[in-house]
Amino acid sequence: MQPLLKENNCFNYAKIEKLFILKEMVETSLKVPFLDLQKVNSRFQDQFQDTLSAILDSGWFILGDKVEAFEKDFAEYCGVKHSVAVANGLEAIVLILKALNVEKGDEIIVPANTYIASILAISQVGAIPILCEPEENSFNINTLLIEEKITQRTKAIMPVHLYGQLADMAEIYNIAKKWKLSIIEDAAQSHGASKENGKKAGNLSDAAAFSFYPGKNLGALGDGGAITTNDHSLMEKIKILRNYGSKFKYENLYKGFNSRLDEIQAAFLSIKLQYLDQDNQRRREIAEIYTNTIKNKHIRLPKKPAFTKSHVWHLFVLRTINRDDLQKFLTSKGIQTVVHYPIPPHKQRAYSEFNNLELPITERIHKEVLSLPISPVMSNEQVQYVVDCLNEYKVNE
Ligand SMILES: *Cc1c(COP(=O)(O)O)cnc(C)c1O
Repeated sequence: MQPLLKENNCFNYAKIEKLFILKEMVETSLKVPFLDLQKVNSRFQDQFQDTLSAILDSGWFILGDKVEAFEKDFAEYCGVKHSVAVANGLEAIVLILKALNVEKGDEIIVPANTYIASILAISQVGAIPILCEPEENSFNINTLLIEEKITQRTKAIMPVHLYGQLADMAEIYNIAKKWKLSIIEDAAQSHGASKENGKKAGNLSDAAAFSFYPGKNLGALGDGGAITTNDHSLMEKIKILRNYGSKFKYENLYKGFNSRLDEIQAAFLSIKLQYLDQDNQRRREIAEIYTNTIKNKHIRLPKKPAFTKSHVWHLFVLRTINRDDLQKFLTSKGIQTVVHYPIPPHKQRAYSEFNNLELPITERIHKEVLSLPISPVMSNEQVQYVVDCLNEYKVNE
């Protein structure tokens, strides 16, 4: 396989672009789209239309009854005391960091293989992301490597429940307690994931950030996000920060943001929240079929979690050293796949200060991962077709 990383440690963009072009070429014979958002949302069309009419009649469009109702519904769903709805997942993290008084030069320990938004949020408040290698079986932060990263400047640990699977929160809690650090969950991919004791993502830290980007397990018809917490004063501060730093109109306590959720999105989300558990269960069924019936010596399947409900399968991510070839093969079969993610944050041009860091596990993951279609609206026939094609795949040696 060709090396993906160029000598100067910057990423080979030309190669990535080629993969995208390939995907476009087969659009006409697409048998299994990666994620059919039309189908996901058309299930709720009548309910969406009714609520839209009601909102049009009300004439109130930002931070109103619908947002308050969704905040209540979502807090209840996550089992927390409070939820604050905001504009998107990235800003949910930024607002938590701000509310926890994270400042310039403070350090936040975060998995090196996360989606870029976790890292961007840390940068946006002037703090420094301290990149920690993941554990290969779960793709989540390796808790054995956290303590060696702690310094005088460390303020918080920010685990990401990557691809939908809970990080080892019990161990992270022990470390945070010992070193008096805050914990922030990036729960943008893990709506509904739950521990054996029934505690869910969003209720396993000081504050958690969710995204309702359309492709997430709970997705709006546009951007959206939320913060969950059991800390009353943190919730109050975040509510003020999301609205210009103002509690009473034209009076500003903090240098705040505009990060508010629309009434329309909140109302749509309240409708879809009722079906989240059902949708997650369907994702688990598909993951079960994939893991039990894909048998190919060139493919390493994701490890089943010890506790089924700790994973909501936002993504089904396999590994193979023939990743680009396998993607091409599946494309030719009309199966759309995506790489999450092709370039690790520390190899991005935007993070040139980190380009020389050595994070071999993270780098290998980025070269080998491929995400198969998985969504609540996939048919059994589609699932079986994906399995059949993967079992048929051969490597030309
Ligand atoms: C999607 C995502 C975010 C950002 O959410 P947006 O709503 O797109 O801003 C943050 N972290 C992770 C891990 C994500 O997957």
